[in-house]
Amino acid sequence: MAHLALPGIFDSVDALQAFVDTIPCPIFVKDREHRFALVNRTAADFFGMDGSELLGFTDRDLFPDAHVDEYWAMDDLLFSTGETNENEEDLLDRAGNMRRIITRKSPIKLASGDDLLVAVITDVTEIRQAEAHNRYLAFHDQLTGLANRAMLYQRLDEILSAPEPRHPTVLLIDLDHFKEVNDCFGHLVGDELIRSFADRLAACAGAGDLAVRLGGDEFVLLLADAKEAEAISARILDAACAPFSMGEASVTIGASIGVAKSCGNCDLRSELLRRADVALYRAKSLGRNRFALFSPDMDDGRQIRMQLELEMRQALGDFSQFELHFQPQVKSSTGEVVAVEALVRWRHPRLGIVAPSRFIPIAEETGLIVPLGNWILEEAIRQVKALDLNIRVAVNVSPVQLRQAGFAERVLSTIARLGCSPDILELEITETAVFYANKAEIEILDSLRSRGVRIALDDFGTGYSTLSHLRHLSVDKIKIDRTFVRSLGQVSDADAIIRALVQLGRHLGVETTAEGVETEEQRRLLSELGCTELQGFLIARPRPMAEIEPSLRNDARKLAS
Ligand code: C2E
Ligand code: CA
Ligand code: CA
Repeated sequence: MAHLALPGIFDSVDALQAFVDTIPCPIFVKDREHRFALVNRTAADFFGMDGSELLGFTDRDLFPDAHVDEYWAMDDLLFSTGETNENEEDLLDRAGNMRRIITRKSPIKLASGDDLLVAVITDVTEIRQAEAHNRYLAFHDQLTGLANRAMLYQRLDEILSAPEPRHPTVLLIDLDHFKEVNDCFGHLVGDELIRSFADRLAACAGAGDLAVRLGGDEFVLLLADAKEAEAISARILDAACAPFSMGEASVTIGASIGVAKSCGNCDLRSELLRRADVALYRAKSLGRNRFALFSPDMDDGRQIRMQLELEMRQALGDFSQFELHFQPQVKSSTGEVVAVEALVRWRHPRLGIVAPSRFIPIAEETGLIVPLGNWILEEAIRQVKALDLNIRVAVNVSPVQLRQAGFAERVLSTIARLGCSPDILELEITETAVFYANKAEIEILDSLRSRGVRIALDDFGTGYSTLSHLRHLSVDKIKIDRTFVRSLGQVSDADAIIRALVQLGRHLGVETTAEGVETEEQRRLLSELGCTELQGFLIARPRPMAEIEPSLRNDARKLAS
């Protein structure tokens, strides 16, 4: 190789020193005895020494023995093989900061025959930090700092493929009513709630467990073994139910948990997660705020449900399998029928009559409640209008229907098409649905009410409502849930509760209807307590219109005479 002549640079040690001192990364040269033969200014600064002080020193004068042995082994290897080597390590710089450095050592042979090594230090602290941060991002959820799905998969695969048998358990957690909180209070509050819940979840995790946010309001707690799965699930439910304080407001939600334990025939990650999902679905359909442990029969239950959904879709083609039963609501003072509540029935070709409690939830989940609800509304008004008896019809409305665009218009146009006045119709909406309704949905109810449609608050007393919620929505009636009626005369404070609800009704200037009146004793007590209307098996069971029509007409005649 031809050398350029660089007069004045390499013809003296001072010139060489001046040259290497201009290089901004630490460089030093050592001889075979590990003595420093040349150290540039950056290196001297890095080690916290004066450059000239270092000459002739060895690592022993600078570093702990354990490090030195390692360095020297690398030096010796280099001299014996003549090959460049690299070492990455943590080192305290002179300012006392821990730095991550790579020292690359290369051999050079002098004309005199002496061997030297040249070491160049690269500070990779920032690079390594950025890499670590990227790794962190790849395996963690940004909002909560919990592990993410990728980390869950990795950990599960590790546990499931470990040579010694272990039984990881997946708790799949879904917050109940989170969507409503998000709609009501906005996304910032929603995020805050997710973060608070994540903290509570992490506190339920033991050493070796992994708390994960899958996304949205879905979380996983991966337990290293199955032993305490039930106790931990109960703890998580408590954590989810405790109120969250969000600024001024206090928000209460809940959670449903599906639990799947790995066992001999379930050692696949996907299968374990699928089972947790099936169990979660069960927990939700059992009424939420609970956990369910996967069992193989749940797969069958899911099959049945999917079958039911399919058959419902088909039945909604012409509605011929659906029918309405009607149950009278009477004035408690006179016994006069003021309204009939429409209750839907599904006459299934194979299963016979399917109760609404069984298929309405499926219809709500799948959105099929919208066409079904439209049909119920029209059919109910049509049948009651045909009586021409001046009684109202009460129709149950699912929150899913309220969320449908154009709900109010559809209700009003149906009434108009059937030639009725809006006050023939009373929409029953549950207290819980009202609690979770957003502003737009409340406005829909308000606008319907302002046009003359009556609004009744169904299942009152079982939901989360407080007086303050009743202020948001004006109603015409509250229906005291039948659980209170059932407790009358049995549970000591049942009558106190009913009295309070009746007083509330009076205060608001609305009717109070007691549901589920089954005995003469209940009728008497409820009338005494001041309930204005009664409904229940004692008065009449829900029956097809053709069956109750004669008695409705009979009553009307008696009243007229
Ligand atoms: P709900 O609105 O509270 O309806 C009253 C339920 O109580 C009816 O059950 C009725 O048969 C029952 N019931 C009436 N009197 C008594 C009594 O004295 N004792 C007892 N133990 N029960 C009594 P059903 O028809 O099975 O309906 C159950 C629920 O299904 C309803 O509760 C309602 O939430 C829902 N549902 C029924 N029909 C419809 C509908 O057309 N649309 C919607 N969205 N939901 C409906
Ligand atoms: Ca009802
Ligand atoms: Ca009810």
